[in-house]
Amino acid sequence: MESTHVGGRQVVQAIVSESGRLDAAARRGGSLALWLPIAGLVLFHSIVPYIVGSMAPIVSLACVVVLALSGAKACLARARISGASGWLMLAMAKVIWAGGMMANAAVHLSLGHYQGDASLCLLFFVLYGVPLVFATSSPETERLSVRVLDGLIATALGVLFFVHTFGLATMAGASAADAELLTRMFDIENGLIALFALFRFTTSHTRANRDFFGSLAAYGFVYLLTTAYMDHWQKDTDYGTSFDLIIDLPMLFLIALTQRSTRKPSRKTVDASQRERLAQAISPLLLPAMLLVVAATMLGSHPRWAVAGFATATIVYGLRNALTHLRNLEERDRLAQLSQIDDLTGLPNRRSFDAALHSEWARAARSGTSLCVLMIDIDHFKLLNDHLGHQEGDRRLRDVAEALAGCASRAADMVARYGGEEFVVILPGASAEEARTLAETMRIAVLALALATPAPGGRVSISIGVSATTMPAIDTPDALLACADAALYAAKRDGRNTVHMAMAA
Ligand code: GH3
Ligand code: MG
Ligand code: MG
Repeated sequence: MESTHVGGRQVVQAIVSESGRLDAAARRGGSLALWLPIAGLVLFHSIVPYIVGSMAPIVSLACVVVLALSGAKACLARARISGASGWLMLAMAKVIWAGGMMANAAVHLSLGHYQGDASLCLLFFVLYGVPLVFATSSPETERLSVRVLDGLIATALGVLFFVHTFGLATMAGASAADAELLTRMFDIENGLIALFALFRFTTSHTRANRDFFGSLAAYGFVYLLTTAYMDHWQKDTDYGTSFDLIIDLPMLFLIALTQRSTRKPSRKTVDASQRERLAQAISPLLLPAMLLVVAATMLGSHPRWAVAGFATATIVYGLRNALTHLRNLEERDRLAQLSQIDDLTGLPNRRSFDAALHSEWARAARSGTSLCVLMIDIDHFKLLNDHLGHQEGDRRLRDVAEALAGCASRAADMVARYGGEEFVVILPGASAEEARTLAETMRIAVLALALATPAPGGRVSISIGVSATTMPAIDTPDALLACADAALYAAKRDGRNTVHMAMAA
């Protein structure tokens, strides 16, 4: 049979390439299934003004709503494959935006003409930006409590937008200046979203974030240009004309963005994490900054709401800072603790030993007491490693460390890993004799573990150098340590598995 001649690797390759072909075919089918109805919809939208007569505005708005909801659906699908939660926010924004268009259609249906009370539509359009501002300014890596506070500011922003927009839209008479103010607000909001998304894109280095913020920035600029064109140059045109096709543009562009390949590797730059940190630190400012700006524009018309906006921005952002500061302090303490501990044995490491030796030396000098140091080295450890392997060596190291720590019972004593298979012990206030006794106890305790080794004697043993000094000493802590090291060397020379004593000056 032919299949028996095919190696396992070739079979795997065949399966992979076959599934790749299927995957590509499915993707082609999937995008065809997506784009065909959309192309039909846009085609239909383009002929609406010529076929449905007076119903053209409503039918045209219905087309726009369907396209916006298709965009939201495409964002939801993208959220599932990309893992960036921002896509959910973008989907939510498109649903709110579609709500605005539905409200527009309702106004047309009930009043027969666009010049009615359009406050509800405007409310939807301003609220559309809130999830997007939240997505660009609230880092996904923050804990829930911080994101809830960001959500609170975003909600306050929405409330102020509502009050502001409602006030402008229902103001009878002076609508030209108000409309100008309102469109400027839209421009600022859309521009800020696009700029911040661009900022997050250029500073992100995870693939999911680059994918999302890159798409949001591209879409944001297209949306900004489209709305600016419609609000400033085409503002008097009612719905239901062929100009409506311009509204389709950002949504078609968004759907196209959701269909891009996700496999592209992210471009990494050397200082990527530095810039990402900067972005994470700066982006949370966007929410309170926007709240302050909107509150400031309301000072004249709604002073109480403006003050409420200022207060919310300040207090909630302050609270947010307090929470992140607390988290940073916790993290700092955790890292400081970790930096003092040796990973393998759990004993204090060389760094904390050095600090302890110097502070104990200073304390002994102040109080005129004695100070002893033990330098401990496992005998023939290289032989053990070579014969039993590094892992077995590590296990022996941990056992020895535990036995040594078990012998030093006084609170002031410190047993640390000096490096490799060497340990050190500081004994503040101990006499030379007490230090020698403890060293003997440690030597016997390690022997009593009966850890197998190919070295002479068959059991793991240690050699110990002891040095002691009585204050006032003429030497330094380093000299005390060097003295213990010399004593250890002498213990090795004496045949190992022994304790050697030295008196420092
Ligand atoms: P001596 O009796 O003269 O002290 O001989 P020795 O073989 O113990 O001394 P040497 O300094 O030549 O070898 C120390 C060995 O300790 C070398 C290295 O492989 C081993 N070692 C150092 N750190 C570790 C560690 O973290 N894990 C393990 N498994 N081995 C280590
Ligand atoms: Mg050694
Ligand atoms: Mg050794």
